[in-house]
Order: sequence, then C-alpha cells, then structure tokens
Amino acid sequence: MSAKSKKIFGIDLGTTYSSLAMVDDYGKPVVIPNSDNQHITPSVVFFDGENVVVGEVAKESSKIYPNDVVSFVKRSMGEPAFIFEHDGKMFRAEEISSFIIRKVVQDAELYLNEKITDVVITCPAYFGINEREATRRAGEIAGYNVRQIINEPTAAAIAYGTLESMGDKVVLVYDLGGGTFDITMIDIQSNAIEVICTGGDHNLGGKDWDDRIVAYLLQEFQNTTKTEEDILEDPDTCQDLLLSAEKAKKVLSQRDKTPVLITHGGERVKVLLERKKFEEITQDLLERTVALTHEMLEEAKKKGYWNYDEIILVGGSSRMPQVATRIAQEFSTTPRIFDPDEAVAKGAAIYGWKLSINEGMKQKAAEKTGKTAEQLEAVSDEELNGVLEEVEQLVADDTGYDISDIKRSRVQIKNVTSKSFGIIAHDSNDQEVIFNLILKNTAVPTVITKTFGTAIDDQEAVSIQIMENESSETIAPPEQAVVIGTAVLNLPTGLSADTPIDITFKLNEEGRLEITAVESSESRRIKATVKTRSVIQGEEFEKAKARSKSIAVS
Ligand code: AMP
Repeated sequence: MSAKSKKIFGIDLGTTYSSLAMVDDYGKPVVIPNSDNQHITPSVVFFDGENVVVGEVAKESSKIYPNDVVSFVKRSMGEPAFIFEHDGKMFRAEEISSFIIRKVVQDAELYLNEKITDVVITCPAYFGINEREATRRAGEIAGYNVRQIINEPTAAAIAYGTLESMGDKVVLVYDLGGGTFDITMIDIQSNAIEVICTGGDHNLGGKDWDDRIVAYLLQEFQNTTKTEEDILEDPDTCQDLLLSAEKAKKVLSQRDKTPVLITHGGERVKVLLERKKFEEITQDLLERTVALTHEMLEEAKKKGYWNYDEIILVGGSSRMPQVATRIAQEFSTTPRIFDPDEAVAKGAAIYGWKLSINEGMKQKAAEKTGKTAEQLEAVSDEELNGVLEEVEQLVADDTGYDISDIKRSRVQIKNVTSKSFGIIAHDSNDQEVIFNLILKNTAVPTVITKTFGTAIDDQEAVSIQIMENESSETIAPPEQAVVIGTAVLNLPTGLSADTPIDITFKLNEEGRLEITAVESSESRRIKATVKTRSVIQGEEFEKAKARSKSIAVS
C-alpha cells in the first residue's frame, strides 16, 4: 500500500456478533481472528467496575451479572430513549456500540501488529437516518475515521460478486441475522454492483427465534412443576434460558432434537426440544420473511425487474435448515448459503480496500497531471480516465497487487434508499399529510426540488418538518412517519399566500440528507444537513469520546 493511501478495514457491527476483515497482500478478503482465535465476537458488553469487557466472556457473565451486561444494543441504535445506567453513568447505544468496535479493532491490531485508523462499518439496509448516523457516531466515539457506512446486503453482494467468479446476474440477498432481516435485490455486473430494491424488518432476527424457545421452555417448566410462576422475572434464570435457547437453536441446525436443562429455585426440569416443535413455534416468523420478500419483489417489478437468477442466504440465522427449505419451496429455486458469518465483514473490507486503491489512483493521476496537493481532491473521474491504464500500473507496482485486482477496484457500487423522505404539507382538504420528495428504493445519490406555496398572506416563516417514512406513495399519512429534523425559513413581510418556496432534498450514497429551501422573490435561502436529534452529538458526543479514552476495553 502506498504511504499516502491508508489501509481501510471493514467492520460488521452485528446485533449478536461482530467481526473485522481486511484485504490481504494477495487481494483476498480475510477475517481477522479475535483474541480467542474466533472469527466472530459476541456483540455483548459487560461493565466490570471501571472497565468494559466485550465478547464471549461478557456473554457468559450475563448469567451471573445480568444487570451489568448489555446485549442486542444494535436494536436500540438511534433511539434516544435507550439509556443504560451503570455506576451512576449513562450510556447511549452509540457509546455501548463503540466498545464493541474498539474490541474487534484492538484484537485485530494485536494480531496484525499494526495500527488501525480507518474503517468502513456496515448497517442493515433497513436502517434510517438516525440509526445510520448513530452507527457512524459509534465508530467515531471509538476513535476511528469512519470512511463510510454501507449496507450489509450490499457488502454481502460485493463479497459474493468478487469471490464467486460468474457472469452478470440479478441476485436476491436474503439476510437473516441476529436482530434484523434484510431482503435486497442486486444486479451484479462486471463493472457495477447495483442495488435495485430493498426491504425487511429491523426487529426480526435470530433473537426472535430464541425468544420463542424461551417462551416454550417457560411453558414446559410450568407444566412439569405444575406452577404458574413466571420464572423469567428472575433475571438470572431469564439470562440462563436465553443462552440455553440460542445454544439449543444452533444444535437444532444440525440435529433433530436437543435436551435443554432448566434450573430455577432448586427445581431442575429437562426438556427435550425437537426440531419439528421448534419449527412449529417459529413458523410465523419465517412466514414474515417470505411476505417481506414478496413485498420487495413487487417493488422491484415497478423498476422493471420481473426476474432474478439466484437467491443467496447470508446472516447466521440462515443456517437454520427450515430457512433454505421454505425459500426453495416458495420461490422454486434452491438458494445458496453463502459464507453466512463472514460475507458482510469481507464485503466491507473489499469496499474499504476499493476506497483506498481509488485514493491511490487519484494521487497518482494528480501527480501525472501535474496537480498540487491542494488540487488532489479536485481530480475528476474524467481526468482519471485519461491516464487510467498508466495509473493502474503505477498503483499495482506501488502496492504489489495484481493489475486485475486494481482493475476490480473500479467496479461501481450503486445503492438505493431504504426509506422515503418528505415534508409535512396540507392537502386540498387542509388535512396534514406527508408529501414525499424522495421515495424509497430511489437510486442514490439523488436530488429533487419541489415547489410549495405559503399558506397565508404575510406569513412570517415556513417551518419545514422533515419526515422519514416507509411509504412508497408520494402522499402518505403522517402517522407512519418519524420527524428527523426541522428547518425554518424566515420570510420578508408582505408576501401573499401561495408564494412559491422551492424545497430541495439531496440524499447522498450513505443516506445523509441535505435540505435547501428558497423563497425566490428575495433569494432567501436556508440550508440544513439533517442532524438528527436522536443521535448523540455536540457536547455530549465530545464527552462520550473523552470518556471512551478513559475506559479500558478487553
Ligand atoms: P449475524 O447477525 O449474521 O451474525 O447472525 C447471528 C445470528 O445467527 C444469531 O441469532 C445466532 O444465534 C444465529 N446463528 C448462528 N449460527 C447459527 C446456527 N448454526 N443455527 C441457527 N442460528 C445460528
């Protein structure tokens, strides 16, 4: 790697497990083992006095210290109401996630004996602005340069498209993880990987399958002991059952039945859990993934995609045999299980590597075209194309990578937004509605301007409420939306009702939204990048960053 272009690592920040990958000297993505020599680290954080323990030890500690352990924090990303209190200190989801990031990075640094500064972090395609921003914040609190937040299914598709040599294909990525389900249609071509459509549910994942087992175990315990006691009210028993449930679930991916021991208040009850029973009590969860897949396929049709070539299954929960069976039955095609645990981290690493190689190419191109360091940023793709072959060779020589790898780094990644964005407006009946400027599944980056009118004569200001929602319609009911920001445009006096106000929404590849509102008569303009209130920021963010430095993570 050239001295100037930084190595960028990929982090899969999962609900249940996290991992870190890099592209090695041979151009191959590899997951870096953690200090336990495992490729995945449980995303579990244990507050042990002044310090923090992340991973397997934390997961095991949840049995003994359930109140000091946080699991599934990803489900609370971007939710200001989530606060974990320990020793009088308040931790938000971003800060807790930052410990997980620090752990996987630290372990990798130790293994590689090199410093990691720059990372790409993945998040579910389904994440909205708040959750994405919170994910970025988590990386920043941990002290790293977060170069990009990319979608998990996109990362999986990048890994798939890069590692499995094949022709052009339209692929459905069915990603059932620990806490989220994403279903994404991706068009993989030799020079571009394009996301066509995405859907899913960020509250549906392996954890729900575990919870069903726990509920079943509770019932069996009550039946056997002939009591009605809710043993889940005891935090120790509850944690114990959750861990046993996850273990049992994994065993059932291999075997037809497994014994589970429930101990509570001196009672010991052994339950023999059969796969058939497990499938029966979780059938509706699987059906929900099927329904969401159909929904997404309908959306894809609107974009002209009526068919696909293959379904690939990623995410740890796709190891449950009933997933592949059900998908094969419903969609009349045998799905491929593709590297369920590692595809996302590897794809993120390839993405980071691509960024880094492209930076190297721009630097070389700048040198070739006689630009100064300050002008480096301004080297356009057109200029780069003019000197491409030569620059590719120079970067290959510099980095030691094969020229075919360098060419591969030029593959374009095109994404879509998983949410719609609009403003609160009034319809002809004076009812409040959301007027969507950007509809979900629109290719990003995108810019759109719409003209609205002021409501009354001599209106003093326009307050623009920026809404995120799931609707695929331009006019949507406000109940289904969340406010992600507000902007105020002050108006000059004397304007009549219906004075035009141009509102522009600009959404970038990462899902960051910039809004401009213009009242053209006096060229008044406001510009706001939506800084969501649901995410740690300002002084609180700086404090979290400083505090992070003083807390040791192991
Ligand atoms: P991910 O978020 O992709 O790391 O997926 C983690 C989820 O996969 C967790 O809910 C795990 O319990 C689940 N999982 C991992 N391995 C298996 C397995 N062999 N069988 C069933 N579920 C699994």
